Formats: sequence, structure tokens, C-alpha cells
Amino acid sequence: MKTALITGITGQDGAYLAQLLLDKGYKVYGLLARRATATTWRLEYLDILDKVELLEGDLTDVTSIIRAVEEAKPDEFYNLGAQSFVGTSWKQPQLTAQSTGLGALNCLEAIRIVNPKIKFYQASTSEMFGGMPEYPLQSEATPFHPRSPYGVAKLFAHWSTINYRESYDIFGCCGILFNHESPLRGIEFVTRKVTDAVARIKLGVQKDLHLGNIDAKRDWGFAGDYVEAMWLMLQQENPDVYVVATGRTTTVRDMCRIAFEHVGLDYEKYVVIDPRFYRPAEVDLLLGDPAKAKEKLGWTAKTSLEELINMMVDADIRRVEKELVQAR
Ligand code: NDP
Ligand code: GDP
Repeated sequence: MKTALITGITGQDGAYLAQLLLDKGYKVYGLLARRATATTWRLEYLDILDKVELLEGDLTDVTSIIRAVEEAKPDEFYNLGAQSFVGTSWKQPQLTAQSTGLGALNCLEAIRIVNPKIKFYQASTSEMFGGMPEYPLQSEATPFHPRSPYGVAKLFAHWSTINYRESYDIFGCCGILFNHESPLRGIEFVTRKVTDAVARIKLGVQKDLHLGNIDAKRDWGFAGDYVEAMWLMLQQENPDVYVVATGRTTTVRDMCRIAFEHVGLDYEKYVVIDPRFYRPAEVDLLLGDPAKAKEKLGWTAKTSLEELINMMVDADIRRVEKELVQAR
């Protein structure tokens, strides 16, 4: 039986990855950061909370990572923990640098000190590319130009992983994942903000939806598909860097249209442009080239954007209906 340690197990990807690894027969440990209120709702949603072993720790405290690695004795270590919201990274740049950037270095140090044979996965991001117009299709060869404190912190973590491979021969892989969503996506991200609003508007408990730049384009996939690529990277003979994407890009506007149309509504009647949601610097276009992942990992995205958004709207309708019943 293989053992895995996941940081960020209470997040969207952590929950789906834990489920995937449990299905494959792994013993799964997760790092649980102490918070005032419980953060395990995603693990409960997937009905796996009692199947994983949670170890207290924080990415910014290297001693807690070392302890977790000593206790779990993992074969594979997936670093998914991060302050992951781009918008917040301008408001809390240092916290973002410490958890998203230095946090990865702390994981690599823990591996180097405890057992350099542990295979390591780093959750890199398309935000490192910054969507510069001269590179309309982004692959592993595209130069980086991060446009937020989040992107900058992730680039540090990305290069640290490669550096620890070159310096200490650690099996470190980076998945440059493009945006991926699901019913477990945080409510602050635009897809979930939209699908939650569609549910509330349809059920008569919200009037409109305030958004920022709806001309931005993203390459959106389903998180459940993407965690499979993470696992595949650690099963290869050699560590490497892979872009994981669908190869299709869509504006926020068209994503809204799909979501509202699913419940028979016209998005133009409800969406209000609100400059409060503009960002100090924008990533205008993300479109990934997943050719290498397809060729080397045999991985392709299975879920279309329409299927994904419809799945999210349906889940949010069920959630809001439940809330309304409980409030009665
Ligand atoms: P989430 O925001 O849903 O999850 C982040 C996780 O990190 C949570 O479990 C959170 O814990 C944990 N965390 C945050 N700070 C710390 C800390 N200081 N110490 C320990 N744990 C911490 O992110 P996703 O699941 O969507 O993404 C997973 C990873 O992939 C992230 O690193 C993200 O940046 C990256 N990524 C995501 C993409 C996407 O589109 N989803 C695209 C590319 C990369 P808590 O619940 O306690 O807050
Ligand atoms: P990101 O790609 O990691 O920043 O993921 P987000 O889901 O947060 O944002 C995707 C795009 O949607 C970005 O270009 C945002 O500027 C744009 N966007 C427009 N309105 C909003 C909004 O109200 N909230 C968020 N989160 N993003 C918005």
C-alpha cells in the first residue's frame, strides 16, 4: 500500500485528490491548518473525512511540515496548500509570499531533511504566464511573466522545485495547471460566484450579480479530471514539468451566458459591471497547450465547459434549496 501526504487537503483539489488516491488504495494523510472554525466541509461532501488521517500543521511553519513528513512517512507528497486567490494576493502580499511561495520551500526542505526519496508534486499555475499578448497559446516553453503577487509567489515555488531536483536529486514535478473548477470551488472564484448567483436568482433570493472584467478569457476545466494528471506525473520514470489544460478559452461573459441559459435566464438582465472587482493588473487571456500531457501522460480533459458549468449550477441550486428549507 502506498502512502501520500497532501497539503491543502481541505481545498478543492486536495479533496478530489484524496478521493482519487483512496480509490487507488493509498493511505492518505493531510496537513490541517488550525482555523477558528472547521474547514473540512469538502471532505464531508465527498464522504471521505473519516477515511483520511489529518495532521496539524501550517505551511509557514517548517517544523510542523517536518513532523508531518516524519509521521506520515509518505511515498508521495502533494503540495496543494496555498493562499490561492489572485484578488487577495494584492491585499495580503506577504502572507501570499509566505504560504504560497516559502511554503513550498518548507516542504522541499522537509523532504531533503527527512527522506529525499519522497516524490514531490508542486501545484504550479498558468498565472505564472500572465497571459501576455505575444504568447496567445501557453506551453511548457512559454516564458513566465506573473501579473500578481500570487503569480510571483508561485513562480518562486516552481523554480524552487526544479532547483531541489537539480541540487539534491529530489523527484520534484510541477503541474502548470490552468483554471479548474467544480461544485467544491471557493465562492470567491468567478465560476462559483456566477453559478451560486444563478441559483439564488432562479430561486428568487438574489436580484443581480456584480462582476469585474468579463472580457477576460480563461481555459477552464473540471478539477476532478485535473487531479488525475497530478497523480500521473508522480508515476513517470523521471520528474518533469507539464501544462494541464483543455486547449479551449472562453470569456467570463460567455461562461455567464452558459450558466444563466442552463436555468432559462438571460445573463444580460442580471450582470452589473462593478469596478470594485477590477484588479490592479489583469491576466487577459489564458489558453493552454496540453499536448505534452497528452503525449507523455496519456491525459486529456474529459469534461466540457458546458458540462462543468451545468454541474456547478445544479449543485448550487440543491445547496440553496436546502438552505431555504432549513431557514423555514
Ligand atoms: P483552495 O484555495 O481550494 O485550497 C487551498 C488549500 O490550502 C486549503 O486547504 C487551505 O486550507 C490550504 N492552506 C492555505 N494556507 C495554508 C497554510 N499556511 N498552511 C497550510 N495549508 C494552507 O485551492 P485549490 O484546491 O483550488 O488549488 C490547489 C492548489 O493548486 C493551490 O496551490 C492553487 O494555488 C493551485 N492552483 C489552482 C488552480 C485552480 O484553478 N484551482 C490553478 C492552478 C494552480 P484552509 O481550508 O484551512 O484554508
Ligand atoms: P484567476 O484566473 O485565478 O484569477 O481566477 P478567478 O476565477 O478569480 O478570475 C478569473 C477571471 O475572472 C479574472 O480575469 C478576473 O478578473 C475575472 N473576473 C471578473 N469579475 C470577477 C469577480 O467578480 N470575481 C472574480 N474572482 N473574478 C472576476
